[in-house]
Amino acid sequence: MPRTYPIEKYRDIGIIAHIDAGKTTITERILFYTGVSHKIGEVHDGEAIMDWMEQERERGITISAAATTCFWIPKILERKKKNEYRINIIDTPGHIDFTAEVQRSLRVLDGAVVVFDGVAGVEPQSETVWHQADRFKVPRVCFINKMDRMGASFEKSLESILRKLSPNAIALTIPIGEEENFKGVIDLLEMKAFYFEGDFGQIVKEAEIPKESMDKAKLFREKMIEKIAAEDDKLLEKYLDKEKKQKITAEELRKVLREATLEYKLIPVLCGSALKNKGVQLLLDAICYYLPAPTDLPPVKGTDLKTGKEIERRPSDTGSFASLVFKIAADPYVGTLSYFRVYSGSFKKGNYLLNTTSGEKERIGRILRMHANSREEVEEVFAGDIAATVGLKTTSTGHTLCDERHPIVLEKISFPEPVISIRIEPKTKQDQEKMSIALKKLSEEDPTFRMKGDVETGETIISGMGELHLEIIVDRLKREFKVESSVGRPQVAYKETIAQEASAEGKYIRQSGGRGQYGHVWLKIEPRERGKGFEFIDKIRGGIIPKEFIPAVEKGVKEAMGKGVVGGYPMVDLQATLYDGSFHEVDSSEVAFKIAGSIAFQSAAKRANPVLLEPIMRLEVIVPEDFFGDVIGDLSARRGKIEETKDRLNLKVIDAKVPLAEMFGYATALRSLTEGRGTFTMEFDRYEEVPQNITNEIIEGKKQ
Ligand code: GDP
Repeated sequence: MPRTYPIEKYRDIGIIAHIDAGKTTITERILFYTGVSHKIGEVHDGEAIMDWMEQERERGITISAAATTCFWIPKILERKKKNEYRINIIDTPGHIDFTAEVQRSLRVLDGAVVVFDGVAGVEPQSETVWHQADRFKVPRVCFINKMDRMGASFEKSLESILRKLSPNAIALTIPIGEEENFKGVIDLLEMKAFYFEGDFGQIVKEAEIPKESMDKAKLFREKMIEKIAAEDDKLLEKYLDKEKKQKITAEELRKVLREATLEYKLIPVLCGSALKNKGVQLLLDAICYYLPAPTDLPPVKGTDLKTGKEIERRPSDTGSFASLVFKIAADPYVGTLSYFRVYSGSFKKGNYLLNTTSGEKERIGRILRMHANSREEVEEVFAGDIAATVGLKTTSTGHTLCDERHPIVLEKISFPEPVISIRIEPKTKQDQEKMSIALKKLSEEDPTFRMKGDVETGETIISGMGELHLEIIVDRLKREFKVESSVGRPQVAYKETIAQEASAEGKYIRQSGGRGQYGHVWLKIEPRERGKGFEFIDKIRGGIIPKEFIPAVEKGVKEAMGKGVVGGYPMVDLQATLYDGSFHEVDSSEVAFKIAGSIAFQSAAKRANPVLLEPIMRLEVIVPEDFFGDVIGDLSARRGKIEETKDRLNLKVIDAKVPLAEMFGYATALRSLTEGRGTFTMEFDRYEEVPQNITNEIIEGKKQ
């Protein structure tokens, strides 16, 4: 079966916003308008629309889906099926503080709509998202929302985008009236006014620009044309010629603006009020006009599993199939859904795909596509598609699923090990089981979140990538799973290792009457490179310890490694070699050798210059120049090492490495150092040795 929509008509996009800017409301409106107008030619009376909304509310799948597909025809095109665009909206996290989440969604989308609150303009958190999107070179359009709110100002908001984010922003629409007088929007390309009628603004009415808005519209149009013309020699020539200038068409402007937006040279800005149902349809048009199709972007990169060389996959249906799983989510109706994006090739359901990350084959029995109020079973997926499948066994977020004859590992979304833990307990005992189930679900969805039970104390410990990450988990427990809980103080996940080699003997011998115990080993332990993990080497020759007892020695060593000799933290990155020992015909047992292994390991570890390791975070702080000195000073006081400082417009970007232990409460500290203007992102970098004086403090602190 051939594809139903040409890839050039695909838009794989995300909506990103500061929390509360209106992302949910806009998404709802988009799904509503696209749902209503998709059924071309059908008459929609008020009742049908209400039905649609009710249904949607009941199902509640719309907003929570990790990706939703909808269709739209921009207003300038004829209402014909061939003019339809397929828009896949990929969910982006509302909270932007943990980079893993943001990176994984930015990784699979081609373009983005950035939403701003028309009262607040650019908020510090929106600056953070913006810079993330810069790093991934995501083309975007902006939507200044809430134009109806008291205090809303289009000009001020636009000004803050130009000043704080990018001088390349360019207004394509302006509001007619503001605050409670906000009535509609003026399209500066068409020089027409648009009003939104019907109960939900679903009827778009075109009209002449009201007299009182004409001067402003002309002024903004002039600025717009000037900026667009500067991007194209031919257009610029026309623009500079008085006569020809009058003949510049909206079509010409759109074409150049599209190219400039894709190259991130211009950023279209629109406005409206999602809540008051105004302006969203024009935003949909802009998504089709200016954001990229998969074919507008460079091919995706990966590694050839056979040769280890870097290879590419182009967005075409004839290439070898390659897709990336970007989200695992629980769905109340069908179970665990794995969402994936197809980068190249096509694939029919019922066949097998190779997971190059886990090395296992997976049968893809069903393929689903989520729509606003329905779930569609599809037979086949093509390059550019976003879909979901169910029942995968070894696949999780960030894995590549591809044609087994042409194995590729797509550029990985790598997930770091959690670096911070807290104790958590439900407020009421009855909720214990509910909490465990909920935490388990959450950890399946989020590869950077873990839970475990502490066997000794019976407590539940959750770990994640930062304070806020865990705060959000606790909040989700409450809102989504209705479990109230209380948590302890956050703890850094320290580890231990050894700095030199050492050998030691371990003996466990009990021989007083009856059957005794006899285990005796000699172990040598040596440091391994950071991140290399543990290795056990068996050098016993000639059966001086029988084969069946050797796994027991390894088990004993591993158990002892669980509680290090410096502060009781888990030991990592070392190898242990079993090279000598003895046994007793009758008294030797697995248990005795396990204990001997533990004893030998502990005494060797004490002599091997054991050290404490702490997580070091990679930090990017973005601050206005005025606060630069203070922020640098503060970072040094936190044992931070500044790696690089760069200028980005009138901002300073600081790259630093800082121990996590010094970063608790940094969000608040930075806010007060920079009058709320500084933003930062932080992610785990690696484990490093803790300086001796600090080690002492940590051990002392632990004793108290
Ligand atoms: P999100 O956190 O970005 O998903 O934001 P929501 O869509 O949940 O909106 C946050 C709040 O702002 C809600 O109370 C909305 O009703 C309100 N809101 C959203 N859009 C508008 C708007 O255009 N005008 C006004 N006045 N309020 C809005």
